[in-house]
Amino acid sequence: MDKKITIAQIKEAVQQAYDLYKTNTDGKNADYIPYLANINKNLFGISICLLNGQTIEVGDSEYRFGIESVSKVHTAILVLRQYGAKELLEKIGADATGLPFNSIIAILLENDHPSTPLVNAGAITACSMVKPVGDSKQKWDAIVANITDLCGSAPQLIDELYKSESATNFNNRSIAWLLKNYNRIYDDPDMSLDLYTRQCSLGITAKQLSIAAATVANLGLNPVTKKQVFDAELSPKITSMISTVGFYEHTGDWLYTSGIPAKTGVGGGVMGVLPGQFGISAFAPPIDQAGNSVKAQLSIKYVMNKLGLNVFNGHRVTIVD
Ligand code: GLN
Repeated sequence: MDKKITIAQIKEAVQQAYDLYKTNTDGKNADYIPYLANINKNLFGISICLLNGQTIEVGDSEYRFGIESVSKVHTAILVLRQYGAKELLEKIGADATGLPFNSIIAILLENDHPSTPLVNAGAITACSMVKPVGDSKQKWDAIVANITDLCGSAPQLIDELYKSESATNFNNRSIAWLLKNYNRIYDDPDMSLDLYTRQCSLGITAKQLSIAAATVANLGLNPVTKKQVFDAELSPKITSMISTVGFYEHTGDWLYTSGIPAKTGVGGGVMGVLPGQFGISAFAPPIDQAGNSVKAQLSIKYVMNKLGLNVFNGHRVTIVD
């Protein structure tokens, strides 16, 4: 079925979602990373980036928060750019784990495989693969340059978050060395873990994440800068990985209720990709048991349902003025 949606309708839906959930008090800031525990829990922003480059924003859409696990999408894209789709599949995998983001059992169950670059294990492996292997400084520069390309502007390291997370990332240290044991780390394990921790500590805004999501939705062409960031054929690969594991053990529930592939981070950010239509991001610090922002989930679901959008409903949607 052909369906037309106006920009005014999108603006109205975004504003309604914001008004509806602004005062929601469910969830709790992540407390296993001390910096995140102390962020103002009332911050809340939503941003949509259309494929003409226009953004529709409400609330704290320009507040810089910890990107955390949303960065896994960006670095998976970098690995796809550097190695191609086939090698990512061979070296990391593209499977759902059905388990929490920091699961060690998932590595053991997969028999030595990190499953997907969108959980901690696979993301640490992805950091180990970033070229040039062996050079931490240049690898870091490549990670930041790639995020900058995707967002159309640079992220900024939140130094306090990086220190806070580095001092408490014991579980991730185990993951890095377990992967080394299975020959699934392709550079120095401690350096790979440090790069992962640092990329999680980058400050990003909901507006920036919506532009990165729109770049994926737009087959690699950043709709704001007009730069072709990655080959169009890689876009469905990244969206498929977001679809299968973006909300960890709640990914099925998420897709079923929202109809949009999206990736979360414990900093409270979510980035959703509606292929051929737009990128959407919402940010609010309080998260649920699985580490997913409560208000970001509610607001993105609201917008999707209100506009009758769903990646699975087969509608040919045109967004018009
Ligand atoms: N840096 C966090 C960690 O590794 C990211 C987790 C997340 O956002 N789900 O634990």
